[in-house]
Amino acid sequence: MSSSKYDKYFIYKTPPKRPQNNRQIAYIDSDDFPGAHQYNCHWVTVLPDDPTKSWSDFGHDPHEHKVPEVIIHMGTDPNNKEDLGGEVELAMGPELIRYHITKSCMVYIPAGFIHSPWIVRRVDRPFLVVTVCQETGHTEKPHPELLSEEERKKMMFIYEGYGRGKARERCVVSQDGMTLEGKISQ
Ligand SMILES: [Zn+2]
Repeated sequence: MSSSKYDKYFIYKTPPKRPQNNRQIAYIDSDDFPGAHQYNCHWVTVLPDDPTKSWSDFGHDPHEHKVPEVIIHMGTDPNNKEDLGGEVELAMGPELIRYHITKSCMVYIPAGFIHSPWIVRRVDRPFLVVTVCQETGHTEKPHPELLSEEERKKMMFIYEGYGRGKARERCVVSQDGMTLEGKISQ
Protein backbone atom coordinates (compact mmCIF):
# COMPACT_ATOMS: atom_id res chain seq x y z
CA MET A 1 0.00 0.00 0.00
CA SER A 2 1.35 3.39 -0.94
CA SER A 3 2.38 5.55 2.00
CA SER A 4 0.70 8.47 0.23
CA LYS A 5 -2.79 7.06 0.67
CA TYR A 6 -3.70 9.39 3.54
CA ASP A 7 -1.55 12.37 2.58
CA LYS A 8 -4.56 14.66 2.41
CA TYR A 9 -4.92 14.53 6.19
CA PHE A 10 -1.52 16.20 6.77
CA ILE A 11 -1.75 19.97 6.41
CA TYR A 12 1.48 21.92 5.99
CA LYS A 13 0.22 25.26 4.74
CA THR A 14 -2.42 27.96 4.86
CA PRO A 15 -4.80 28.13 1.87
CA PRO A 16 -4.60 31.16 -0.44
CA LYS A 17 -7.89 32.55 0.89
CA ARG A 18 -6.20 33.27 4.25
CA PRO A 19 -3.31 35.64 5.08
CA GLN A 20 -0.03 34.52 3.55
CA ASN A 21 3.11 35.27 5.52
CA ASN A 22 6.15 33.45 6.86
CA ARG A 23 4.59 33.20 10.32
CA GLN A 24 1.65 31.01 9.29
CA ILE A 25 2.00 27.29 10.00
CA ALA A 26 -1.25 25.71 8.83
CA TYR A 27 -4.98 26.20 8.61
CA ILE A 28 -8.00 23.88 8.31
CA ASP A 29 -11.69 24.54 7.85
CA SER A 30 -14.70 22.87 6.25
CA ASP A 31 -13.50 23.80 2.75
CA ASP A 32 -10.66 21.32 3.30
CA PHE A 33 -12.68 18.68 5.18
CA PRO A 34 -16.48 18.87 5.15
CA GLY A 35 -17.71 19.24 8.70
CA ALA A 36 -14.33 20.38 10.08
CA HIS A 37 -14.23 23.34 12.42
CA GLN A 38 -11.75 26.16 11.86
CA TYR A 39 -8.19 25.74 13.15
CA ASN A 40 -5.43 28.29 12.56
CA CYS A 41 -1.87 28.19 13.92
CA HIS A 42 0.90 30.71 13.50
CA TRP A 43 4.05 32.08 15.06
CA VAL A 44 4.30 35.46 16.72
CA THR A 45 7.83 36.58 15.93
CA VAL A 46 9.91 39.23 17.72
CA LEU A 47 9.13 41.78 15.00
CA PRO A 48 6.03 42.03 12.77
CA ASP A 49 6.28 41.36 9.03
CA ASP A 50 6.98 45.05 8.46
CA PRO A 51 9.88 45.67 10.89
CA THR A 52 9.45 49.43 10.56
CA LYS A 53 6.18 49.06 12.49
CA SER A 54 5.38 47.72 15.94
CA TRP A 55 3.05 44.86 16.82
CA SER A 56 0.74 47.44 18.43
CA ASP A 57 -0.07 48.67 14.92
CA PHE A 58 -1.73 45.34 14.06
CA GLY A 59 -4.58 44.82 16.50
CA HIS A 60 -7.66 42.70 15.87
CA ASP A 61 -10.87 44.61 16.60
CA PRO A 62 -13.56 43.84 19.23
CA HIS A 63 -15.85 41.22 17.73
CA GLU A 64 -18.11 38.24 18.39
CA HIS A 65 -18.78 34.88 16.76
CA LYS A 66 -21.93 32.75 16.60
CA VAL A 67 -20.08 29.86 18.26
CA PRO A 68 -17.46 29.39 20.99
CA GLU A 69 -13.81 30.10 20.16
CA VAL A 70 -10.66 28.95 21.93
CA ILE A 71 -7.48 31.03 21.69
CA ILE A 72 -4.32 29.15 22.68
CA HIS A 73 -1.09 31.02 23.52
CA MET A 74 2.01 28.80 23.82
CA GLY A 75 5.45 29.80 25.01
CA THR A 76 8.41 27.97 23.45
CA ASP A 77 10.89 27.61 26.33
CA PRO A 78 10.85 23.91 27.33
CA ASN A 79 12.54 24.81 30.62
CA ASN A 80 9.81 27.28 31.52
CA LYS A 81 6.61 26.15 29.84
CA GLU A 82 4.49 28.66 31.75
CA ASP A 83 6.30 31.67 30.35
CA LEU A 84 4.75 33.01 27.14
CA GLY A 85 7.88 34.92 26.24
CA GLY A 86 5.96 38.11 25.61
CA GLU A 87 2.75 39.92 26.39
CA VAL A 88 -0.61 39.86 24.63
CA GLU A 89 -3.40 42.25 25.56
CA LEU A 90 -6.90 40.78 25.24
CA ALA A 91 -10.08 42.72 26.04
CA MET A 92 -13.07 40.75 27.34
CA GLY A 93 -16.76 41.64 27.33
CA PRO A 94 -18.61 44.71 26.02
CA GLU A 95 -16.80 46.75 28.69
CA LEU A 96 -13.52 45.78 26.99
CA ILE A 97 -11.86 44.81 30.26
CA ARG A 98 -8.18 44.49 29.34
CA TYR A 99 -6.22 41.39 30.32
CA HIS A 100 -2.45 41.10 29.91
CA ILE A 101 -1.38 37.56 29.06
CA THR A 102 2.24 36.71 29.92
CA LYS A 103 1.81 32.97 30.60
CA SER A 104 1.00 30.10 28.25
CA CYS A 105 -2.77 29.63 28.37
CA MET A 106 -6.00 28.76 26.61
CA VAL A 107 -8.79 31.35 26.61
CA TYR A 108 -12.38 30.20 26.19
CA ILE A 109 -14.67 32.65 24.38
CA PRO A 110 -18.41 31.80 24.65
CA ALA A 111 -20.72 32.17 21.64
CA GLY A 112 -21.90 35.74 21.15
CA PHE A 113 -19.36 37.09 23.65
CA ILE A 114 -17.54 40.29 22.64
CA HIS A 115 -13.77 39.87 22.85
CA SER A 116 -10.65 41.70 21.64
CA PRO A 117 -8.86 43.95 20.82
CA TRP A 118 -6.20 41.25 20.71
CA ILE A 119 -2.89 43.12 20.55
CA VAL A 120 0.67 41.82 20.83
CA ARG A 121 2.38 44.22 23.22
CA ARG A 122 5.83 42.64 23.57
CA VAL A 123 7.74 39.65 22.19
CA ASP A 124 10.90 38.57 24.01
CA ARG A 125 11.02 35.13 22.40
CA PRO A 126 8.84 33.92 19.49
CA PHE A 127 5.71 32.11 20.67
CA LEU A 128 2.82 30.20 19.08
CA VAL A 129 -0.87 30.99 18.78
CA VAL A 130 -3.60 28.53 17.79
CA THR A 131 -7.21 29.61 17.35
CA VAL A 132 -10.16 27.23 17.09
CA CYS A 133 -13.64 28.38 16.07
CA GLN A 134 -16.23 25.70 16.63
CA GLU A 135 -18.11 26.16 13.38
CA THR A 136 -17.79 24.96 9.81
CA GLY A 137 -18.14 28.44 8.30
CA HIS A 138 -16.44 31.38 10.00
CA THR A 139 -18.74 34.05 11.45
CA GLU A 140 -17.53 37.37 12.78
CA LYS A 141 -19.29 40.60 13.70
CA PRO A 142 -17.01 43.58 14.48
CA HIS A 143 -17.83 46.20 17.12
CA PRO A 144 -15.85 49.28 16.05
CA GLU A 145 -18.26 51.49 18.02
CA LEU A 146 -16.63 50.29 21.25
CA LEU A 147 -13.25 51.80 20.35
CA SER A 148 -11.86 55.31 20.50
CA GLU A 149 -11.12 56.81 17.10
CA GLU A 150 -7.42 56.62 17.83
CA GLU A 151 -7.54 52.90 18.55
CA ARG A 152 -9.89 52.19 15.64
CA LYS A 153 -7.22 53.41 13.22
CA LYS A 154 -4.90 50.59 14.31
CA MET A 155 -7.40 47.76 13.93
CA MET A 156 -8.40 45.25 11.30
CA PHE A 157 -12.12 44.43 10.99
CA ILE A 158 -13.63 41.24 9.60
CA TYR A 159 -17.28 41.04 8.53
CA GLU A 160 -18.49 37.53 7.83
CA GLY A 161 -21.71 35.57 8.15
CA TYR A 162 -24.03 38.13 9.76
CA GLY A 163 -26.19 38.91 6.79
CA ARG A 164 -23.84 41.42 5.24
CA GLY A 165 -24.35 40.26 1.70
CA LYS A 166 -24.33 36.53 1.10
CA ALA A 167 -24.41 34.38 4.22
CA ARG A 168 -20.72 33.50 4.18
CA GLU A 169 -19.36 36.53 2.38
CA ARG A 170 -16.13 37.63 3.95
CA CYS A 171 -14.85 41.20 4.07
CA VAL A 172 -11.62 42.31 5.77
CA VAL A 173 -11.16 46.05 6.29
CA SER A 174 -7.70 47.30 7.20
CA GLN A 175 -6.73 50.15 9.50
CA ASP A 176 -6.97 52.71 6.70
CA GLY A 177 -10.43 51.61 5.52
CA MET A 178 -9.12 49.61 2.58
CA THR A 179 -10.90 46.38 1.77
CA LEU A 180 -8.31 43.59 1.80
CA GLU A 181 -10.39 40.67 0.59
CA GLY A 182 -14.00 39.99 -0.29
CA LYS A 183 -16.22 43.00 -0.74
CA ILE A 184 -18.52 45.13 1.34
CA SER A 185 -22.11 44.91 0.14
CA GLN A 186 -24.41 47.45 1.75
ZN1 LIG B 1 -12.61 35.88 17.92
